[in-house]
Amino acid sequence: MFSKITELDKMVKQLAEESRELFTRFYSFDISTSSLAIPKEMEDWVKERFGSLERVERQRIVSIKNKFTGEQSLFNELRLDRPIESKSVIELAELKERKNCTFCNPETHTPADTFGRIKGDYSITAGNIAKYASYHSLIIFNEHNPLEIKREGIADYLRTAEHWFEEASESRGGKLHKFFLWNCLWRSAASIIHGHMQVTATEERYGKLEVLEKVAAEYQRAFNASYFDDLYRVHKSLGLASENKGERILVYLTPIKEKEIFVISRATKSDEMADTISKLLRSYLDLGVQSFNLAIFPLGAYHIVRLLDRGSLEDRNSDIGALELYAASVISTDPFKLAQVLL
Ligand SMILES: [Zn+2]
Repeated sequence: MFSKITELDKMVKQLAEESRELFTRFYSFDISTSSLAIPKEMEDWVKERFGSLERVERQRIVSIKNKFTGEQSLFNELRLDRPIESKSVIELAELKERKNCTFCNPETHTPADTFGRIKGDYSITAGNIAKYASYHSLIIFNEHNPLEIKREGIADYLRTAEHWFEEASESRGGKLHKFFLWNCLWRSAASIIHGHMQVTATEERYGKLEVLEKVAAEYQRAFNASYFDDLYRVHKSLGLASENKGERILVYLTPIKEKEIFVISRATKSDEMADTISKLLRSYLDLGVQSFNLAIFPLGAYHIVRLLDRGSLEDRNSDIGALELYAASVISTDPFKLAQVLL
């Protein structure tokens, strides 16, 4: 079996007919070679940096697009070469600095929701001081360091989030849409170091989720099959998916950014997925991930979890540019290499 995104054409060719048809239904892709002329003066530097002139002068580029959602990722062979390997967990002094941390004293230093606070064994809720939904709150972890991730902690944060959602829905007196998110450390847009998740409950579906909902409904109508079940089958046929306690884990073929994982679950509440989510986060930390975004939301009969890596805490440049915002995503992690270490 080939297991590199740059050999996707060969992998697809080797699929059984039914799997190949399903792949082609979901994805279009293109593998092209771009050319460069390296001036003499640059040759030594190029050889030292990339190993050979040939590799730089003729670069393979893979573009893959989900035909239903429009999600598209671009992979350049040169960027994919770094091996994915375990690194030691970072020791940043800032992660231990609790002295001026308001979230270490949430009951006196954060606002409460009007319906009060919900306390878990490892977390407590707070109203978000600057909301972007009428119901927008925080699950503040008892543990300051967000990279101290334990299964019982994750289960408790999610249980507390579910209780908050019930309270919010009851307080509103109607059906609301649930969205849980975790921005971990500053690369991911978190403004506070202390571990915390955010929870929103809205009357209207978020636009991007509405689009995904429409895609799934139209797929069901057109093919009399579940979009998410078939999305899993495509990933499974390429060795990019596995199951953990009923949750289907996909190393996503069209990641928005690095190492994107897409989980499809039949759980009715998010805390039922605590085992899978904590395992994935533990694997992330083992791979040296320092900052990540996690989103959890129900969609139809499923709960979906999306998780991705936002890069090194020491990087000063952002990982998201105009191409990501308006066109397609540039990705440096090969999903096939990631699947080998993660699944
Ligand atoms: Zn703290």
